[in-house]
Amino acid sequence: MTYAVTEACIRCKYMDCVTVCPVDCFYEGENMLVINPDECIDCGVCEPECPAEAIIPDSNPGAEKWVEINRQYAGLWPNITIKVEPPSDADQWLKVADKFQNEFSPKPSLGKSN
Ligand code: SF4
Ligand code: SF4
Repeated sequence: MTYAVTEACIRCKYMDCVTVCPVDCFYEGENMLVINPDECIDCGVCEPECPAEAIIPDSNPGAEKWVEINRQYAGLWPNITIKVEPPSDADQWLKVADKFQNEFSPKPSLGKSN
């Protein structure tokens, strides 16, 4: 059992989630965070902290796709344990649909948050 970050996080990246995770299992891409499903202990404390409601349990319908995306990029991106400033235009992207198709970046973060 694990939680996963969905496309609602893309270009929002508020990072409230990383400050509460007891096992530091968030990883940072250029414009999205992911959870390492092999490290997540399924505690659920991050889910209500996310202003974008981007975090879902793997029991949700359709969650399988996001768990695999989280697993893939957790292996490629750097770990993040502290909250830094979100993008200045984060609020504008909060309700935008289909962000994975149109906005996702596979690049790792530039490392400013680590
Ligand atoms: S709090 Fe939500 S939007 Fe912010 S980085 Fe975490 S998952 Fe992404
Ligand atoms: S469910 Fe718990 S362990 Fe998993 S990412 Fe969220 S805070 Fe971390």
